[in-house]
Amino acid sequence: MKKRGLFLLLFFLVLIVGSGCNKDAAFIEAEYLFDDKETIADFVDPEWEKIEEFLALIARKEIDTIDKFYLYGSEVGYEKVPATNYGYLSFYTNTDLEIIEEIVPLSNTKIRPGKMRANTKYIVIHNTGMASPVMTASRLSKSINNSTRQASWHFTVDDKEVYQQLLLDEIGWHAGSPEGNNYGIGIEMAVYQGIDLNMAMRRTAKLTAWLMLQYDLGIESVKRHYDFSGKHCPQVLMEAGRWEEFLELVQIEYYGQKYFSDVEFIWESLSAELMDNDGKILSTSGKSGSVRYRVLVNYQGKLRTFEFVSGLKALI
Ligand SMILES: [Zn+2]
Repeated sequence: MKKRGLFLLLFFLVLIVGSGCNKDAAFIEAEYLFDDKETIADFVDPEWEKIEEFLALIARKEIDTIDKFYLYGSEVGYEKVPATNYGYLSFYTNTDLEIIEEIVPLSNTKIRPGKMRANTKYIVIHNTGMASPVMTASRLSKSINNSTRQASWHFTVDDKEVYQQLLLDEIGWHAGSPEGNNYGIGIEMAVYQGIDLNMAMRRTAKLTAWLMLQYDLGIESVKRHYDFSGKHCPQVLMEAGRWEEFLELVQIEYYGQKYFSDVEFIWESLSAELMDNDGKILSTSGKSGSVRYRVLVNYQGKLRTFEFVSGLKALI
């Protein structure tokens, strides 16, 4: 009976904590209430509280789905390519991006000014204006090698790969202003017909957060090309009204990389027909309903499971 009383106490504590700090998230915690090894001391461990706050940051009461947007290209026939955003949750894992180095030869002085940055103040985000389905990060990275156009940037990212074209501390020509070029690291998102734009945004956010930590930069250092030269770039994100959402993704990644490098998160969709284990809402998900998911958290050998539910909200 005594043990049962403790469980009841824990249950009400969860209700109180849950109602206090999870207004946006339907936060269902069940399993660890029945973990015999739990004690009150574990429950109030500040690290676990931080983890719970982090999970609540990732959770959404509703996920926007079936939202139309456009890609923009300079190629004939790909000037304005319609696409659909089915939505996602930004399931965080503490895995590193694999960066493929394709550093442009120094002999190509159109691409490599050969000068180092005296200081790093910005991370400058771009997206390509080439929407044909062949214009992947891989293709763009290889084409820059022989380019005679005076344009260069440090990383090219899409939904599958990350390529590096310049050394990390080298100046590139991408921001359209001396301030942006001399003090900024340029990231180009390759956005083309058929890309999973949400995944490309998440991967770009992961890279951006990693660079912020490398150079001790805050979120105010993350800039659009537009902020330096007025060029309408990153056009796809700006036209779709998703710049703020990108900054939120960067902050989730930053928080995760800074504080939870020793914590393992294993996500599992409990609505496999609607959402995959990466948090991606599937195109077959339909217009309404809800998704449930579970995250197993491993912190210092202690395992806890949390469950959440999110509604799907179709925008058309
Ligand atoms: Zn740009």
